[in-house]
Amino acid sequence: MNARVPMRIVNALTVDVEDYFQVSAFESHVDRGDWDTMPRRVESNIDAILELFAAHGARATFFTLGWVAERHPAMVRRIVAAGHELASHGFAHGRAHDQQPEEFLDDIRRAKSLLEDLSGHEVRGYRAPSFSVGPRNPWAFDCIAKAGYRYSSSVYPIRHDHYGAPESPRFPYETRPGLMELPVSTVRVMNTNLPAGGGGYFRLLPYAVSRWSVSRINKVDRRSAMFYFHPWEIDHEQPRMNGIPVKTRFRHYVNLNRTRARLARLLKDFHWDRADAVFLDGARP
Ligand SMILES: [Zn+2]
Repeated sequence: MNARVPMRIVNALTVDVEDYFQVSAFESHVDRGDWDTMPRRVESNIDAILELFAAHGARATFFTLGWVAERHPAMVRRIVAAGHELASHGFAHGRAHDQQPEEFLDDIRRAKSLLEDLSGHEVRGYRAPSFSVGPRNPWAFDCIAKAGYRYSSSVYPIRHDHYGAPESPRFPYETRPGLMELPVSTVRVMNTNLPAGGGGYFRLLPYAVSRWSVSRINKVDRRSAMFYFHPWEIDHEQPRMNGIPVKTRFRHYVNLNRTRARLARLLKDFHWDRADAVFLDGARP
């Protein structure tokens, strides 16, 4: 056992499987119609991630975009064959709050059935693009339940300029009958929720901050953490997009060359498993 973590609390490791040109922050700069003309890098990045996880004996949940799964079915099967959980990131990466309920429901149903056809397993988890579910669109939870998912991980209870629901619960709760919400982790400091679950903060801030945060969730809150990252975050050679405003560009490209080593430290310093095994009772396959 790792000496830094006295109790064996297992944390949830998750990956949002999408390519560098599909991120919500680039949405107004990249035409969806051009996606098929862009060089794709997601499959080689996922292979590197699968190797990294295997080297550390870590299992994870892969919230996979339907658009990507359709073009990379062999990659989806490799994820499943390695013992990881295949979950859904919707089909076309539209934010929930930008859509009508019917359109949103169609998108998340389409992704679920495609991923189930490819994997031969029930897909229980869903994560909304850009954590776009919260108090302003409660109907989205009704749709997620209606589509047959068992859990969602679509709320980041922080204050952020593009997303966030700072008043939402910090730890898993039943949001609809039979549907759990598993929020991305935060640490509570001076009555404020600070991000502790990955994303740009993991690259921007020193690794020690992430280690302190996960430790605090395990030791002080005595809960499992929920951590996430994207395959493009380990890829410092990805093509640079043109015409991106300075702040967005900084957030996307900062410290890409350091992420892989940081992830290796995170995998070594804590215990990790799939979200279903960590949070859903009796779900350990
Ligand atoms: Zn996404």
